[in-house]
Amino acid sequence: MLLPGDGIGPEICAGLQPVLAAADGRFGLGLSLETAEVGLAALERTGTTFLVAVLEAARRSDGIILGPLSTYDYPPAGEGGVNASAAFRKELDLYANLRPARSRPGVASSAPDMDLVVVRENTEGFYADRTMFAGSGEFMPTADLALALRKVSREGSARIARQACELAMRRSKRLTIVHKANVLKLTDGLFYQTVRQVAEEYPAIEADEALVDAAASLLVRQPSRFDVIVTTNMFGDILSNLTAELSGGLGLAGSLNAGDRHAMAQASHGSAPDIAGRDVANPSSLILAAAMLFDWLGRRNDAPDLCRAAAAIEAAVDAQLSEPDERTRDLGGRLGTQAFAQAVADRLAEGVA
Ligand code: NAD
Repeated sequence: MLLPGDGIGPEICAGLQPVLAAADGRFGLGLSLETAEVGLAALERTGTTFLVAVLEAARRSDGIILGPLSTYDYPPAGEGGVNASAAFRKELDLYANLRPARSRPGVASSAPDMDLVVVRENTEGFYADRTMFAGSGEFMPTADLALALRKVSREGSARIARQACELAMRRSKRLTIVHKANVLKLTDGLFYQTVRQVAEEYPAIEADEALVDAAASLLVRQPSRFDVIVTTNMFGDILSNLTAELSGGLGLAGSLNAGDRHAMAQASHGSAPDIAGRDVANPSSLILAAAMLFDWLGRRNDAPDLCRAAAAIEAAVDAQLSEPDERTRDLGGRLGTQAFAQAVADRLAEGVA
């Protein structure tokens, strides 16, 4: 199911469509794409940014591709401003946020030897709007005092640890647990100990740890030290932006939110209202996120063609990005959003990547 969202969302989703069609044609995937409205357009038409019917249709679909949302501009939830991204993560229990960061051939990067994945716990931590059964994890007992609760559970830590270990087994079998258990002794202590215990079930994995502040420095100084990083929600949110930027820019980083039954592809950037409607946005992040969704679906359903399609999309994006002029303007190229996406689709269809 494709949900274009706000700002540049409709443009980058329009760009994604020929890429999906090319993958479908080449690998015989039998895709059928349902589109629905979320965000400000839905608010104007229906009084809410996120209809329950859209959630239910998404629940029935095999996978979700969600464009970015202009959540800063939404009214309060009581007036229809529902953050669909947060709602999907909570309602569909998308507890793992996988955010790869890889420097790409020919693309300027502050970390040319970076190739890692941040595995971020996605349902707990400090995220006040999605960690509670009822009510909010953030509250103000008085006008001058604001408090926030941070939630870390053994079960939540164990299931994200398992996702990270499975991923590490498919990669170089190196896992780094990032935490702040020296200060947050109970919460990060529980996270660290639980992840350690799960990692012990995978003797082939070499697991180490880093405090989050040290990890931030090491990611800049020695990025090749890392392969799979597993961490709590907010540390993962911040570190994955750092790694995406170091590897070449937020516009190049895909993101997958996955649970045991559902998965949702998202670009790692926001709705970029400053450039919306001008055909200048870089669609790579969403295209790469869609490839991650194909890979997830392929593994889950034992459908190797979906995994092959994912690898071919990734290779087609790499090949297109390797031509300095044939990129979008944010990377110094001369192509618009649709022309860039079509060029990726053409490479994919021709099987050159
Ligand atoms: P942003 O990521 O939208 O934009 C930051 C800067 O990066 C802007 O200059 C923008 O033009 C540029 N940029 C972003 N994506 C780009 C792309 N694909 N190609 C070229 N340039 C790109 O962040 P922001 O300005 O802080 O937020 C704008 C809106 O997006 C806000 O309403 C915010 O709440 C929302 N947001 C949504 C998500 C999401 O839906 N997952 C994530 C972050 C922010």
